[in-house]
Amino acid sequence: MNLILLGPPGAGKGTQSEVLCKKLGIPQLSTGDMLRAAVKAGTPVGLKAKEIMAAGGLVPDEVVVGIIADRISEPDCAKGFILDGFPRTLPQAAALDKLLKSKKKKLDCVIELKVDDKILADRIENRARETLAAGGTVRADDNAEALKTRLMAYYRETAPLTGYYFAHELLRTVDGMAPITDVTRQIDEILAAVEAS
Ligand code: AMP
Repeated sequence: MNLILLGPPGAGKGTQSEVLCKKLGIPQLSTGDMLRAAVKAGTPVGLKAKEIMAAGGLVPDEVVVGIIADRISEPDCAKGFILDGFPRTLPQAAALDKLLKSKKKKLDCVIELKVDDKILADRIENRARETLAAGGTVRADDNAEALKTRLMAYYRETAPLTGYYFAHELLRTVDGMAPITDVTRQIDEILAAVEAS
């Protein structure tokens, strides 16, 4: 099963993809996680991405497409993968289509998590608070200012992807404001229907 989880920052993509990857036995490919690892390791990609990410902007398409092209070619993706945070722009979506076609693969489903903006801001604040309370390091972009930029980037660049995938008959939408287990159940139902079709 090759899936995309789509939604604004704080919508719960990471949480749901973790559940799904355990259940389906396929990896979660989060460009955000991969970029944060690159920043931490100080790789050339990380150096390029660091400031952009901290400000809440989008890393150039060619950088993330390159990362995903390499990652999808790894053996653990043979049975499928869950894309979390990629694609985020129409050119990234087109690059993904081309990439999958070249590997004779296709997308099975794109699941959009819908959440009100006010709830997103509260969730991001909570995530920062909980990370601090647990003694962890808060993400450089989990603050009110960067969240505004991330939301603007989402509406300008990423939201058009719902139209793109609707037109490709791949889009399914769930209520991302429901409790986590309810969201998981909605996703399970969608995947069961996709499998049966
Ligand atoms: P995330 O963990 O998905 O919220 O991503 C954190 C940050 O990483 C984003 O705000 C962007 O700066 C960068 N990023 C992650 N994925 C992408 C992508 N597909 N395209 C561009 N930038 C990305």
